Amino acid sequence: MSKFYHIILTHSAGSIPTYKLCRSASSITCVVIERVTMSAKLLEGKPIAEKIKEEIRKEIKTLGRKPVLATIQVGENPQSTIYLKSQKKRAQELDIELQEHILLDSIAESELINYIRKLNQDKNVTGILLQLPLPSQINSKNIPIHIDPLKDVEGMHPENVGQAIFGKMRIGSCTALAVMELINATGVDLYGKEAVIVGHSEIVGKPVSLLLLDKLATTTTCHIATGQRGYLPTHVKRAEILVVAVGKPGIIHGEWVKEGAIVIDVGINRVNDKIVGDVEFEKAYERASYITPVPGGVGPVTTIMLMRNLVESAKLQR
Ligand code: NAD
Repeated sequence: MSKFYHIILTHSAGSIPTYKLCRSASSITCVVIERVTMSAKLLEGKPIAEKIKEEIRKEIKTLGRKPVLATIQVGENPQSTIYLKSQKKRAQELDIELQEHILLDSIAESELINYIRKLNQDKNVTGILLQLPLPSQINSKNIPIHIDPLKDVEGMHPENVGQAIFGKMRIGSCTALAVMELINATGVDLYGKEAVIVGHSEIVGKPVSLLLLDKLATTTTCHIATGQRGYLPTHVKRAEILVVAVGKPGIIHGEWVKEGAIVIDVGINRVNDKIVGDVEFEKAYERASYITPVPGGVGPVTTIMLMRNLVESAKLQR
């Protein structure tokens, strides 16, 4: 006669499956009879950013000079204005001087480069930040090489980008560094973990892929071609660490998220006057172990990473 047992197999996933163990003379079979869903832990950026801010505050005291951040905005752009507002707030909190350089919308690429060169030479300026997007007559990919690599607080100069290969970015992409801070805050050991990055931009997807690879995660970088060939769900479903930076609301379906996955949603999209990410939040929340909210996840950590880069710049210029 068969005996029946109830056992609970605990695992790191967001839900605990309950199994009915059926023991017979010749075999043991397990059947999932119910699933108790646990919600993910919300991975909020603000407390992480606050902690880093205090570390930066201490570092600034040891610099012996007040860091000066020169921001360049070309023309009027609502996106840059919002970003600038949060940078100003952070700068004020840390007693950092922020210089605003607003240039004409019609400026030629060569004029912008000359302007940057002058800031490179200005000994008073610690870091230079070029606000994006730029007007259509300027190719934004041509500009980072003209910013002094020691003043490149967004980590976009090829010399700084190259540091990511060695896993030790002295000044790195603020968003990529923010993603790593959020992942680290979960306490996960990345060794051998399946990490899937959706998006392969220079500013997010590529540096995040390199930084995760450096931690010996097994990395897969997906992009537009992955999506077009219909392979996105296949890759996402096996991600233990999922980083999404696409800019398309809900491109990652909640049911694709692996149970227990850590989900970092970098996407920022405006839908019906609401800001949402790239991941279907409610459904993903039920399955993930940790998930970043949008807004309030990656964003606050990104702006504090900018200030940390500025401090790194000041140290490198000593
Ligand atoms: P991008 O436009 O440079 O890159 C988008 C990426 O998505 C590309 O690699 C592209 O190949 C990929 N992609 C597009 N369609 C796809 C599809 N159907 N399937 C799979 N991949 C697809 O964008 P970005 O600058 O990397 O920004 C991405 C998102 O992150 C945007 O919403 C942006 O606003 C946001 N962002 C947020 C922060 C922050 O601090 N929170 C910082 C930077 C960017």
